[in-house]
Amino acid sequence: MLRLQAFKFELMPTGEQQRQMRRFAGSCRFVFNKALAWQKERYEQGESRLGYAGLCKRLTEWRHDPETAWLANAPVHPLQQALKDLERAYANFFAQRADFPRFKKKGQRDSLRYPDPKQIKLDRANSRIFLPKLGWLRYRNSREALGMVKNVTVSQSCGKWYVSIQTAREVEQPLPDGAAVGIDMGITRFATLSDGTFYAPLNSFKRHEKRLRKAQRAMSRKTRFSNNWKKAKARVQRIHSRIGHARRDYLHKISTTISQNHAMVCIEDLPVRNLSRSAAGTTEVPGRNVRAKSGLNKSILDQGWFEFRRQLDYKLAWNGGWLVAVPPRNTSRTCPCCGHVSADNRQSQARFECVECGFEENADVVGAINVSRAGHARFACEVSGVVRPPAAGTHRSDSGMARCRA
Ligand SMILES: [Zn+2]
Repeated sequence: MLRLQAFKFELMPTGEQQRQMRRFAGSCRFVFNKALAWQKERYEQGESRLGYAGLCKRLTEWRHDPETAWLANAPVHPLQQALKDLERAYANFFAQRADFPRFKKKGQRDSLRYPDPKQIKLDRANSRIFLPKLGWLRYRNSREALGMVKNVTVSQSCGKWYVSIQTAREVEQPLPDGAAVGIDMGITRFATLSDGTFYAPLNSFKRHEKRLRKAQRAMSRKTRFSNNWKKAKARVQRIHSRIGHARRDYLHKISTTISQNHAMVCIEDLPVRNLSRSAAGTTEVPGRNVRAKSGLNKSILDQGWFEFRRQLDYKLAWNGGWLVAVPPRNTSRTCPCCGHVSADNRQSQARFECVECGFEENADVVGAINVSRAGHARFACEVSGVVRPPAAGTHRSDSGMARCRA
């Protein structure tokens, strides 16, 4: 089995390398924006959209044009990759996975991608990587990057530079280990397993909310684009990035533990996208129960259910297991003992007590047991592939996921 995996490290660039990376990322952004403007212009004039090859030809012209000759200083492959990104943005738009491509702004997800492994040298023993026009870059070697290098992405976040090394390696198809389990996702408990274990909610956002508010207030008091404003902005971004790191770390730990100990994991097929949609609704269709829903939405996004499910999916696949998604029908109201379905079974948010047979249990555990049973029934007819992975890198303004992904 071929396993594709990415390893991300923090870079320790020299001052000159930092300046160059900023310049190169800026050149990529420039090419993306120029190509997008060009496509829009063609569209308005009723001409057909240029393909990737056509755009590459334009890129060569721009690199030779005296006005934009500085583009020739940047490595050509990453510039072409920016055009590839634009192609994919259009494809995602036409497939209705994302909004129409938008112009990139300076300082927002600055990155450049080197697609050719022949031009990249990875010196693991000395914790350094060679990239065209940047030379040898040192990185914090926090773990071993296994496999053959496929491509490399350099990116900036909160003033730090990172390198993400995409690799491929052949691994033996592992045999799934452990039994099946159902998971109930909730607000008061992040995840409850049908065997009774549960994971506390992280609420990383809540924990940092106060600090974040304070930093945001301080920023709003500064004159825009002044030096003090920039400093305050950097502080806000740092808090955001810390929230993101804490959440990712927590989710990875849970999803790793669960996927290593179970061959099959059943999960409620919650339409996270719908739940997280604006509760306020539109003017034609105003939302109901807006206040409660927006609280729920915030909690869901804060806890990263969507990301958790994505991680479970690929980690189970790595371990030879399966993720089975079941429609959430009556999972919280069915008695696992006698099968009686009633809303009265659920006494409170936390307690479950069957009105027929008197079976008593924590409501989340009952939900997990029912999810597990529904999963078994479903597994009989379908195997894996039930959960579709999200399209990578897509953006939808109404989902809120992109905004939440720190
Ligand atoms: Zn019962």
